[in-house]
Amino acid sequence: MSNSDASNEGNGNDVSNESSGHVSEQSSSSNVASERSGAFVIPGDFIGTTEEFRAGNSTYEKMGGIYAATTGTTRVDQAHRSVSVFPRTDVPPFLRRGDVIVGQVTGLRESLAMVAIAGAKGVADREISNAAPAVVHVSNIKRAYVKDITNEFGLFDIIKAKVIDIKNMRLDTSESDMGVVKAFCSSCRAPMKLNDSKLKCSECGKIETRKLASTYGTGII
Ligand code: ZN
Repeated sequence: MSNSDASNEGNGNDVSNESSGHVSEQSSSSNVASERSGAFVIPGDFIGTTEEFRAGNSTYEKMGGIYAATTGTTRVDQAHRSVSVFPRTDVPPFLRRGDVIVGQVTGLRESLAMVAIAGAKGVADREISNAAPAVVHVSNIKRAYVKDITNEFGLFDIIKAKVIDIKNMRLDTSESDMGVVKAFCSSCRAPMKLNDSKLKCSECGKIETRKLASTYGTGII
């Protein structure tokens, strides 16, 4: 369910769509993206830097990096110095509206969180390895107004959410038992513990907030 697992899985069926294919740049970041042309990526995967490439279709920029915004295969266009992600379109549906999923936050934008689905409650008999990328729009995080999405979700957090739209794989965490079930410190990535309704980093002591599931810290998902 981690990014690296998904990437490794993708290495087996790499297909190069580049006919030009020559890489003259010496920097390692260029090589990273070029090597990843045709690689399977999920939302949040690093695919290049803005110094080397323009962010193409289905990618986003963050702090000088270019990341996949959707699940698909990377494509580097040397002529236009751009890197894109071509979405997978052959993913069979496996979830239904109303299903409850557990997934990992792989990317955060101003108005949405990207989630890699790791599993679904009660649907073990259905195929879950081909999980489509999912998103939680800021309006579906909780019933109250969300001022800043990073106060509700953190990168790599594990969340429990309800599927509300299969076509666009949209999730909702507004119910009390939905939300973050495992949070990681934004500074040091250590797990955060809930103490007196405060979420505190077990390593560095940082206090953060999340849209927590009511079962947070109980071990029940
Ligand atoms: Zn910490």
